[in-house]
Amino acid sequence: MKESTCIFCKIAAGEIPSKTIYEDENFRVILDISPATKGHALILPKEHYANLYELPDEMAGKVMLLAKRLAAHMTEALGCDGFNLVQNNGEVAGQTVFHFHLHLIPRYQGDGNEDKICWNHLELSQEELDKIHQLLILTKLP
Ligand code: 5GP
Ligand code: ZN
Repeated sequence: MKESTCIFCKIAAGEIPSKTIYEDENFRVILDISPATKGHALILPKEHYANLYELPDEMAGKVMLLAKRLAAHMTEALGCDGFNLVQNNGEVAGQTVFHFHLHLIPRYQGDGNEDKICWNHLELSQEELDKIHQLLILTKLP
């Protein structure tokens, strides 16, 4: 399904022009309009899934394989020194466009983002850690 008001649906369908670096039947990969670094790109599924929770398993597998291949290609083409995959879900997590996308962010020594793509570290007690551990243990995938 496409969402008539979704900008990434329109870009993925080619209805709005974009700097596309790769396209196949399931995905369009475009340069980010406001890049964190040179080469920052976004993998967009052509179907509308609002976020990771809505992404079907089959597409999740495909998106990671595509990211792996593109990371290798982009690293060679750009000569970057490292690479971040970033994927935000929900406003609180920094999502601003509510159509699933995976950020491909080439990293360069001294690119000025050293302290950006990171987080503060919580200091949790052993008790709190144990509680979370117990909450999260899985014996079988849902
Ligand atoms: P989010 O914050 O949702 O994880 O990332 C949304 C990303 O989409 C941002 O990095 C933003 O710069 C990019 N973006 C938003 N609108 C457009 C657009 O119209 N074209 C392109 N190429 N990128 C966009
Ligand atoms: Zn969409």
